Amino acid sequence: FDSTVVAVETDAGITGYAECCPLGSAYLPAYAKGVRAGLEEIGPKLIGMDPTALLPLNAHMDAVLRGHPYVKAPIDIACWDILGKVANLPVTTLLGGLAQPDVKLYRAISQEDANVMAQKIAGYRAEGYTKFQLKVGGDPNDDIVRIRACREILEPTDILVCDANTGWTMADAARVVNAVADLDVYIEQPCMTYEESVSVRARTSLPFVLDENIDGVSMLQRGLAEDAFDVINLKISKVGGLTKAKQMRDLCVANHIPMTIEDTWGGDIVTATIAALAQTTPEKFCFSATDFNSYGTVDIADGAPKRVNGRMKASTAPGLGITPKWDVLGEPVGVIG
Ligand code: MG
Repeated sequence: FDSTVVAVETDAGITGYAECCPLGSAYLPAYAKGVRAGLEEIGPKLIGMDPTALLPLNAHMDAVLRGHPYVKAPIDIACWDILGKVANLPVTTLLGGLAQPDVKLYRAISQEDANVMAQKIAGYRAEGYTKFQLKVGGDPNDDIVRIRACREILEPTDILVCDANTGWTMADAARVVNAVADLDVYIEQPCMTYEESVSVRARTSLPFVLDENIDGVSMLQRGLAEDAFDVINLKISKVGGLTKAKQMRDLCVANHIPMTIEDTWGGDIVTATIAALAQTTPEKFCFSATDFNSYGTVDIADGAPKRVNGRMKASTAPGLGITPKWDVLGEPVGVIG
């Protein structure tokens, strides 16, 4: 996927970095060229602001550009990196301090033949993963076979999430949740809308995750009030950056709701950002997280977390603790200011 690395330069000689990588153009209302177009639109309106004053910065971004949270996310995150460098503290300290010694990761398995998916899960399990996210949301007959085949090869302590990524109709989802009702699995985002998904939740006793519909604090509050989920998937760029993700993380912890803490996609800098938010979340509420840099083939920064035995740790260096590899990234595609 096309990923954008953002560098925010300051008149103090400190530069902050961030990365935003939408999952193509058909997953969320976001696309890779939209990140760059949005930065061209909003960037000139931010010149001269104090990057360490994150709440005024976010309020200003929301005032000058309606919506487009994924455009604002890398600016906000780069400013957290700046704040950490100014304070000489890791972003983990700024986010509340380390709440767990490391972060347990999940591995996603793309939709394929049920046996192929089960074999891949067995391979990832051997690498140390204990949490798996099965991509379903296709033909419900195939999905039922996939879920059964994959659960069968796991140990009782392993976690299996069946993520439909909005792909089922309510009828499809009802068939699947009934057919796997005897299994120890989670169901994630069965249908396109919040209302359809909540209807499916009412029909199943399986633990239930919402992702795509929980795109900000308002939908989180609505879901909490309406008992719409047991777990949410908190994607940092989906909600507009670390400032807003922290707000939602803290609201979830206060309401005893665990989270999968991750992003849409990305490389080393996205992974470093996820690690910081996830490791500052108590283990009980950090359902899982993602090390996207182990899915990709190109290292774009030094200092990023590297998975060890299905886990990762955030950097202890100031800021996010990463340094972009300019020899890999090349010349900037755009400069604002
Ligand atoms: Mg999901």
